[in-house]
Amino acid sequence: MRLKDKVCIITGAGSGIGKAAAELFAQEGAIVIACDVSEATYDNPNIHYYKLDVTDRARVTEVVKEVVEKFGRIDVLVNNAGITRDALIQNMTEEDWDKVINVNLKGVFNMTQAVVPYMLEAGKGSIINTSSVVGVYGNIGQTNYAATKAGVIGMTKTWAKEFARKGAQIRVNAVAPGFIKTPMTEKVPEKVINAVIEKTALKRMGEPIEVAYVYLFLASDESSFITGQVIGVDGGLVL
Ligand code: NAP
Repeated sequence: MRLKDKVCIITGAGSGIGKAAAELFAQEGAIVIACDVSEATYDNPNIHYYKLDVTDRARVTEVVKEVVEKFGRIDVLVNNAGITRDALIQNMTEEDWDKVINVNLKGVFNMTQAVVPYMLEAGKGSIINTSSVVGVYGNIGQTNYAATKAGVIGMTKTWAKEFARKGAQIRVNAVAPGFIKTPMTEKVPEKVINAVIEKTALKRMGEPIEVAYVYLFLASDESSFITGQVIGVDGGLVL
């Protein structure tokens, strides 16, 4: 049991990578707080679903407070919720820019700002932020998404320094997936997917569980000397 009794909040846990992580963390002994804007169900009784939109600051504060009251602490926060609204910059609406910035960037800020006081009080914790290969090397049609995923890397490195002051063992890392089979990539045209697979060293897309295993490692004490890092999980797409 690699996460025995650890209280772990995962956002965007109703689908794709987040859902795979919720199930994996629970199998590894965690008490999982699975947050999503959409309804979700789970078989494992150690997964507790909370309806939560990460852009709703009042609700974020309320859920985090409830979790601490009920479970006593927060050991791990996985800022996994994310969306896309793709278009070339000439066609990107202000609404789509704002929406993606709000969920992918401000949502990470909201969640972390609510959780970190409890981690600082405990003097320990692990925060995992979901970036993307797109935050590292850009992508046509993803101005808004790339900006958020690069921003997540900046916040990760800043928080790795900020939260570790005064000897606190609070680690902050980012995971940068390549193209993973989830509802998010179902919207991507087949031609684009095939071109990405061609550029990927392992010549395939990833499975959600392959990202979830990296979250698990970063959440566990096995990664106790790793902080401020961006771990690529992309089958060799960015080399
Ligand atoms: P997904 O299957 O679409 O899952 C994302 C989940 O987040 C959905 O259940 C979604 O609900 C939820 N969500 C959306 N807005 C939210 C909000 N405001 N508050 C709380 N939850 C919200 O996507 P995924 O592929 O698993 O993506 C997970 C993370 O990995 C994202 O940060 C994504 O950017 C990142 N990523 C994915 C890939 C990939 O290839 N799939 C690659 C690189 C990075 P709805 O379905 O109702 O919107």
